[in-house]
Amino acid sequence: VGSEMCIRDSILSYPDPRLHTVAKPVAVVDDRIRALAADMIETMYDSKGVGLAATQVNVHERLLVMDVSEEHNQPMVLINPELLWASKERIKNEEGCLSVPGIYDGGERPVSIKVRALDEKGQSRTVDAEGILAVCIQHEMDHLMGKVFVEYLSPLKRDRIKTKLLKAQREAERD
Ligand code: ZN
Repeated sequence: VGSEMCIRDSILSYPDPRLHTVAKPVAVVDDRIRALAADMIETMYDSKGVGLAATQVNVHERLLVMDVSEEHNQPMVLINPELLWASKERIKNEEGCLSVPGIYDGGERPVSIKVRALDEKGQSRTVDAEGILAVCIQHEMDHLMGKVFVEYLSPLKRDRIKTKLLKAQREAERD
């Protein structure tokens, strides 16, 4: 991995405005994309996350990685993901986000979904997901649209989270 690929060990923190960038489709799944995916998987594991969207590492292309397995040995790469179907049945869930450290909350989401995406070899695949995997995919796909999960919360809660995180970021900068 070349030096230009080693710059992405920092994850953007809410309310960084760059988190609201809408990502562009990946034009070609090549070595650059595979290196980015590998780098993001490493960052995700290092940060003890179960999912990471390229948006969060300030790369605005439609790519996300996740691993909801207990052993953290089943990484998945979804490139240009498209939602094909979502169940009417919804569940309320508690979500966390590497860009919103220490906050666990959330709204309702469809309990199962069907998604089509390219894998890291550029092959098209369909993923039927339910439960935590479905929630994770929807959460990460939101990032690619410039949306952070706190936007599902009430404005009051969101403002409290914003204030808390900005204060934490100021304190971190002072240290
Ligand atoms: Zn997130």
